[in-house]
Amino acid sequence: MKEGRIVKIAGPLVVAEGLSGAKMYEVVYVGEERLMGEIVELKGDMAFIQVYEETGGLGPGDPVFPSGAPLSVELGPGLIESIFDGVERPLDAIREKVGDFIERGVQLPALNREKKWHFVPLKKVKDEVEGGDILGYVQETPLVKHYIMLHPEKSGVIEDIKEGDFTVTSTIAKIKTKDGEVYEAKMMQVWPVRKPRPYKEKLSPTIPMVTGQRVIDTFFPVAKGGTACVPGPFGSGKTVIQHQLAKWSDADIVVYIGCGERGNEMTDVLIEFPELKDPRSGKPLMNRTVLIANTSNMPVAAREASVYTGITIAEYFRDMGYTVALMADSTSRWAEAMREISGRLEEMPGEEGYPAYLASRVAEFYERAGRVKCLGKDNREGALTVIGAVSPPGGDLQDPVVQATLRVAKVFWSLEAKLAYSRHFPAINWLTSYSLYKDTVKEYFDEHVAKDFFDLSTESMRILEKEAELEEIVRLVGAESLSPSDQLLLEIARSIREDFLHQNAFHEVDTYASLKKQYLMLKNIIGWYKKASSLLSMGVDIKEIKQFDIWEKLARMKYYPESQLNELEKLLEEINNANIPSKT
Ligand code: ADP
Repeated sequence: MKEGRIVKIAGPLVVAEGLSGAKMYEVVYVGEERLMGEIVELKGDMAFIQVYEETGGLGPGDPVFPSGAPLSVELGPGLIESIFDGVERPLDAIREKVGDFIERGVQLPALNREKKWHFVPLKKVKDEVEGGDILGYVQETPLVKHYIMLHPEKSGVIEDIKEGDFTVTSTIAKIKTKDGEVYEAKMMQVWPVRKPRPYKEKLSPTIPMVTGQRVIDTFFPVAKGGTACVPGPFGSGKTVIQHQLAKWSDADIVVYIGCGERGNEMTDVLIEFPELKDPRSGKPLMNRTVLIANTSNMPVAAREASVYTGITIAEYFRDMGYTVALMADSTSRWAEAMREISGRLEEMPGEEGYPAYLASRVAEFYERAGRVKCLGKDNREGALTVIGAVSPPGGDLQDPVVQATLRVAKVFWSLEAKLAYSRHFPAINWLTSYSLYKDTVKEYFDEHVAKDFFDLSTESMRILEKEAELEEIVRLVGAESLSPSDQLLLEIARSIREDFLHQNAFHEVDTYASLKKQYLMLKNIIGWYKKASSLLSMGVDIKEIKQFDIWEKLARMKYYPESQLNELEKLLEEINNANIPSKT
């Protein structure tokens, strides 16, 4: 392939001619500084290149060097705990080398080439292996066993495999392939980011990803391998929710892609995430986290690539049989990057200037989520859950990015600043949020929690909806003019909101609730609703019902630690035995 010449530069987009034989999505190096770029369109002899670094100083006539390879990521030990930019440049390692201000053209491999990892084989000589089979592992961090898999497209019989300390590019096993060649397997794999990693089969998302956050698990659950969309107006508690999900959800690995609003916002993430603790092990959460960081002062094209880089890394851990939670914040910034590049390409704009292919790109991204049967002979399962934050201008949910996301994401957690201002946390609006997994995960809840778990959730939702209907009347004429049973319903709705939905992320106990605890809490509230209703029908005055100390006990439920859930069971007994105050 021949070297090309720049003919035109438009911001992050460079047009070059003479790159004969170049392919779509091929990586090229632009200018004498060899800035990394990717071909995003080919028209005749012209190649349109999005460049991942500032293009200032480049000029027509400068050379463009082909690489012959598509934009790819390196996958192997060293990913965990790293902070990468959108094209997998190791920001932490670069900072060590050149300081905070990254010069252009700095090339450092994503994975450290010198570091040695202790490889323990799980296969032996003469074993027959196929693509995806686990050859062995490296204890990458105290929390992550990094399984070394055979490249998806290779198979054969092991000729040599040894325990020892190796770099990611050393040969750890020799495999004789069918055509008689010897394939030297390394710990590092290279995979093109725009091509989803293969699996055997997609399984239906029937297992919930338990987050310990009551409003999510009980009302709007997300499945392992599922997709969720969360808008996050400023101050709505988006950061706290993301931290809670990263800390508490039963995912083995967290991949966080940050596309910052403003430069310093991303810095917050870079400072905050590394300080988070994994509550179950007490170790740093980074021990099972990969961060992809794009501040807005990084070139827009790197932002476009970052979601692909992140999801490919996430798929790789899924392939090991792990449950991975990927959070992208915010996908609106990604879409804006797409819009900018598309504009430079002079493509026909669609809604709000976004390219016509916006919806299909968004769909393709979420399609990469899933619970799957992994490649390899051991039938292991992995899951990749994708949680995409959106940040539409002015919080407008009609925004094309939000709309495109809602068409494909199966859960919507409607985070609202209004609720946050009234100190209702997590500020997820229970009336406008939804989860389309409720039916698919029901069986799991039936089996692992209780048969009536979802009935309680449905009943509670009905009460909250009724509360919203009554709100207007209450505003006009006051709650006292309502019928006693409606007054009771309002009290129960308040209890559901304050004692159940409201959850303090910063309270030692309340920060997490097991499914069993969530169930018992709701069972008590609804149990009390039934009991109080029957008391009403026996002629007890609503005022008297409001006097019961059961209300207070309901309010304290959230503070019982997991080891004392029997107290919640006792409360249910007390509720069931509650009787007319002993005036008689
Ligand atoms: P955003 O990222 O949307 O701007 P944050 O996540 O930083 O907002 O939340 C803003 C503030 O709201 C937090 O500093 C915290 O005081 C409060 N907050 C948010 N979520 C919770 C929660 N679940 N429990 C208690 N406080 C919360």
